[in-house]
Amino acid sequence: MTAMERTKAVEGWLAKLEDALSRGDGEAAAELFGDDCYWRDLVALTWNIKTCEGKAEIAEMLKATLGAAKPGSLKIEGEANEADGITDAWFTFETAVGRGKGHVRLIDGKGWTLLTSLQELKGHELPQGTHRPHGVEHGAFKGRKTWAEARKDELEGLGYGDQPYCVIIGGGQGGIALGARLRLLGVPTIIVEKNERPGDSWRKRYKSLCLHDPVWYDHLPYIPFPEHWPVFSPKDKLGDWLEMYTRVMELDYWTKSEAKSARYDDVKGEWEIVVDRDGEDVVLRPKQLVLATGMSGVPNVPEIPGQDIFKGEQQHSSQHPGPDAYHGKKVVVIGSNNSAHDICGALWEEGVDVTMVQRSSTHVVKSETLMDLALGALYSEQAVKNGITTDKADLIFASIPYKVLPGIQKAQADETKKRDKDFYDRLKNAGFDVDFGDDETGLFMKYLRRGSGYYIDVGASELVASGDIKLVKGQVVRLTEDSVVLDDGTELPADLVVYATGYGSMNGWAAKIISQNVADKVGKCWGLGSDTTKDPGPWEGELRNMWKPTQQEALWFHGGNLHQSRHYSQFLSLQIKARMEGLNTPVYGLQEVHHLS
Ligand SMILES: Cc1cc2nc3c(=O)[nH]c(=O)nc-3n(C[C@H](O)[C@H](O)[C@H](O)COP(=O)(O)OP(=O)(O)OC[C@H]3O[C@@H](n4cnc5c(N)ncnc54)[C@H](O)[C@@H]3O)c2cc1C
Repeated sequence: MTAMERTKAVEGWLAKLEDALSRGDGEAAAELFGDDCYWRDLVALTWNIKTCEGKAEIAEMLKATLGAAKPGSLKIEGEANEADGITDAWFTFETAVGRGKGHVRLIDGKGWTLLTSLQELKGHELPQGTHRPHGVEHGAFKGRKTWAEARKDELEGLGYGDQPYCVIIGGGQGGIALGARLRLLGVPTIIVEKNERPGDSWRKRYKSLCLHDPVWYDHLPYIPFPEHWPVFSPKDKLGDWLEMYTRVMELDYWTKSEAKSARYDDVKGEWEIVVDRDGEDVVLRPKQLVLATGMSGVPNVPEIPGQDIFKGEQQHSSQHPGPDAYHGKKVVVIGSNNSAHDICGALWEEGVDVTMVQRSSTHVVKSETLMDLALGALYSEQAVKNGITTDKADLIFASIPYKVLPGIQKAQADETKKRDKDFYDRLKNAGFDVDFGDDETGLFMKYLRRGSGYYIDVGASELVASGDIKLVKGQVVRLTEDSVVLDDGTELPADLVVYATGYGSMNGWAAKIISQNVADKVGKCWGLGSDTTKDPGPWEGELRNMWKPTQQEALWFHGGNLHQSRHYSQFLSLQIKARMEGLNTPVYGLQEVHHLS
């Protein structure tokens, strides 16, 4: 088929879809799809983040949502493409309240995947481009306020005289990106952060840390990194960028402010949040509360007999300050995933005698390979040259249903194994247990399913392979006054024990700040229900509780890597804005709770 014929074919398909949608005929719309089909909706029809799998689920979703959503005006954008027998195209559409962008893939003229995403709310367009503010008020006015004066009033008034509509607890990259989106949408928001400065959540991590993901994947909304920015940001540089961003995006960002408790008043429909702001208790009463307290949740520290008698230092990896204080000491790092590797590598560079304890197998992938095979097509200099903007890349990524992803990831993992065979052989010869996940699908599936169990190699694996980082395998059974003892009797002398033992689910934050009841009511966060290790079924189709309505009214969870923080903050901000404006937001398919943590 020529490009024109393909484009005509997609236009024809979209016209039939629009016809069925306009008649409110979900069954007819679903019949335009093949038997294996997916409709992923980002807030446009469902006011939820929801993937419908198969014709029956699509028909059911449409039956429930068409009346209020009224999707229409489907228009192809650009030309349709074709590769491997799949025709794909972008399109725009409208709903009763918003404008959206969609993506469709057809196989043999039938729908395979369809993405619908809400991009903006009618009448609440972002104040940018032709809508940008004037900035100056020409004329002569008594009592004129400068921008600086108005900003000062706002900073001093919000949270005291005026209540914010939304409070975000946690001002890491997640809270900051969402705060920026809400700012542009005109939603009064306070970000509450216990650290001294924006960016501290990165600054306070161990000193050698650089981002594991490349710059093209990491942009924040609205202000991309400049062209000279390094491919892998050093953590303090990223911290400074976040601090600058917070300032120029004019976020109402409270530093040295710890949210101590939060309680939802069902009758008033508002939260009561007690914040310790630099020693003073302030009560905030927003309508919406977002926990952006870190997707990794509360640190897991195993309970091991002898921890009370051990005379050296013990730290969770999140508390590890870096290697400087440990020159000439003996350190045992329990765990063998990302943090363990990074910490061991930095300690070795400082001349520390460091031992890694591997308790279970780990997926390892070289950073270069990951960039090349997994991210390169969408997030790289080449992708930019090919016209794939960050927004486009994010939507392409989002258009692949989670059910389909393992197949694609497996192909990449197989290629990785072949390409880096020598590397994996060296690691195995050193006794390191490497895996590629329960179904051999590699890094990204482990990240989505359990958010753990992997290391993106930026150098420490060679130290493990060479024995410079000593490796032992087994379970730690106890600590003595000066050593760590494993189940096979091995005794490792130690001045410092680092527990690189991961984190709990994000609803642990809800338990800590709100209540155990609310944490249980919303259930586990993250994971897909893939029925693989640490991601128990049933199948959910989407990440649990992230960026979408939860079982607790007006409570949201936000976080993830920089890509997810950027992309999904858009959809979370639109959900919050719509509620502030009193729009009808009937949620379709509110996630059920299958696991508490
Ligand atoms: C070692 C390491 C390397 C990583 N590398 C990458 C990478 O290369 N690329 C990438 O995209 N991601 C990476 N990640 C994953 C993820 O992006 C980061 O963990 C990131 O910091 C998550 O951002 P966040 O805003 O969700 O959470 P955080 O950065 O953890 O921010 C949460 C904030 O909440 C604050 N907070 C918590 N409780 C309260 C309270 N009660 N009151 C007030 N404030 C509170 C904390 O002080 C913190 O600043 C890495 C993670 C780790 C641990």
